[in-house]
Amino acid sequence: MHGFSHYGLIDLHLHLDGSLTPEWMITWAAKQQITLPTQDPTALKSLISAPADCADLNQYLASFEIPLQLLQRPEALTNAVEDLIQRLDQQGLRYAEIRFAPQLHQRENMSQQQAVEAVLQGLQAVKKCQSLYRVNVILCCMRGADNQSQNEETVRLAHQFLTQKATQNEPMGVVAVDLAGAEALYPTAQFAPIFQLANHLGVPFTLHAGEADGAESVQQALDFGAKRIGHGIRVRENAHILAQLIRQKTPLEMCPCSNLQTKTVACWEDYPLRHYLQQGVVATVNTDNMTVSQTHIQHEFRQLAQHIQLSHEEAKQLVENAIQASFLTDEEKDHLRHLIRPQLTQP
Ligand SMILES: [Zn+2]
Repeated sequence: MHGFSHYGLIDLHLHLDGSLTPEWMITWAAKQQITLPTQDPTALKSLISAPADCADLNQYLASFEIPLQLLQRPEALTNAVEDLIQRLDQQGLRYAEIRFAPQLHQRENMSQQQAVEAVLQGLQAVKKCQSLYRVNVILCCMRGADNQSQNEETVRLAHQFLTQKATQNEPMGVVAVDLAGAEALYPTAQFAPIFQLANHLGVPFTLHAGEADGAESVQQALDFGAKRIGHGIRVRENAHILAQLIRQKTPLEMCPCSNLQTKTVACWEDYPLRHYLQQGVVATVNTDNMTVSQTHIQHEFRQLAQHIQLSHEEAKQLVENAIQASFLTDEEKDHLRHLIRPQLTQP
């Protein structure tokens, strides 16, 4: 199924904590005197990867505990980003948006602001890259019962860093916020105040919806004014909401391997990607978590070629959709298109 790997050029939905390698974790556990359950990379990998037949999204989310323990100091966060960027570059990616939740990195008294600064420092690694053009950062708010003030802080920080990026003309930085975490336990509707604040401050946002929860959560995200939807797989359950998504041209960040693992979709034959493309949805393909889902962006395209016979035309459309859906400026999108186009001509 080679011939499809070269479409793996952009990843818009990529969680930092779910994408650490076992080798990185072993090195940084030693540096920080943290004891891991095992020192064997293969055994560690199985502990931080969700099983292919995960019970649901909640079991999947449990795989993040060990990685998070290791990302509580600024130098670890910076290095984790550098390491991820090097891997993305080696894989031939041109553009990526890495996301993380600053509020989950405060166990050793790092502030949210320090966590964001540490991650932004890691972006400097792009300057040494051969293939990557740019990498930007999305700050995740978290679904939870008692963290509204922390989510508000995340949105205000995003605003602060977005303003700084614009006024200082920085090529890379924070571009948006997100809402992540257990969707079925904490429905999207509860987070209206966070997105009112984001709208008030002019902070663009994407939002995990239609993954563990149904099409109504996508409706909710659209009503809040989401610029993109994380996953959105279950929007097909309601024809009116699907029509609204298509009318508004709101892109979906689909993550095939992850969506199968969390049982959002039962099997490849039922994966709605082609259906959405044919209906005119601005669908994109992403990894979600390279380690937890044991994937990378080329692997996603190869799996789609193998299991749903993705065509070259469809693959090209997905890449164009990803450029369009990115949080880059129009000028940057044109530049990215120009960089990528020669790679898409050969089958
Ligand atoms: Zn995600």
